[in-house]
Amino acid sequence: MKLHSQNKYPLRTIFYSILIISLVVSGIYSLTEDPFKDKRERMVKFQIESRGVFHKPTLNAMRTIPRHLFVPKNRIDEAYDDGPVPIGYGQTISQPFIVAYMTEVIHPQKEQKVLEIGTGSGYQAAVLAEIVDSVFTIEIITELYKSSSEVLKKLGYKNVLVRNADGYYGWEQHAPFDGIVVTAAAEYIPPPLIKQLKDGGRMVIPIGSPFFVQSLMLVEKNGEKITTENLMPVRFVPFRRGN
Ligand code: SAH
Repeated sequence: MKLHSQNKYPLRTIFYSILIISLVVSGIYSLTEDPFKDKRERMVKFQIESRGVFHKPTLNAMRTIPRHLFVPKNRIDEAYDDGPVPIGYGQTISQPFIVAYMTEVIHPQKEQKVLEIGTGSGYQAAVLAEIVDSVFTIEIITELYKSSSEVLKKLGYKNVLVRNADGYYGWEQHAPFDGIVVTAAAEYIPPPLIKQLKDGGRMVIPIGSPFFVQSLMLVEKNGEKITTENLMPVRFVPFRRGN
């Protein structure tokens, strides 16, 4: 009778045990690891930092937010591309660089309240929500209002309030705002938005004809004085009226 068996190859046993354990650990790790993390890092580095946006809170927000959850399922592969992506109803989620630039240019701060006109996918609102205290965002298309509200809720953004209305009139009830971001091209700056901008506040808005290249404008309010600065040529979807 054999009382105990002796392992003839102890080193081999140790080697195979280590191999199996590491395969299991790396398998679990790859299941929990976000497969889009690398794409986000590259987006920030090659599309945003390389073009001169270095605002840390903005870059951090864009490194963290799962942008692929803000595009239609059949366009997930395009989510981190260097351009706008269609989100249905003739609308688009803005190019990552434009989102970063518009965020940086209003100088967002932790304790601030920001108004966005044109929620669209909800991505720009999420970027702002990572930085400021509260975000109020208005979307004119009911279906987009619903889908963006849902994704923002799913991701746990409790400091974003979405409303289905014509953003031309702003959101009087929560005014004044430290910053206003308009993501649809208007022919002129809607006067209610200027009114609802805080003294010392900054607004960024594309101005021009919907069918041509527009100008991204920075609007600053200092007392009664309104100054505008032409930042760069852009192409945005048209600012609609009605609802
Ligand atoms: N900020 C968005 C960009 C969406 S495109 C994002 O990150 O995805 C611009 C959006 O503005 C569209 O969804 C369009 O429906 C909306 N829009 C156009 N005119 C509007 C208006 N008057 N009020 C509110 N939203 C408007």
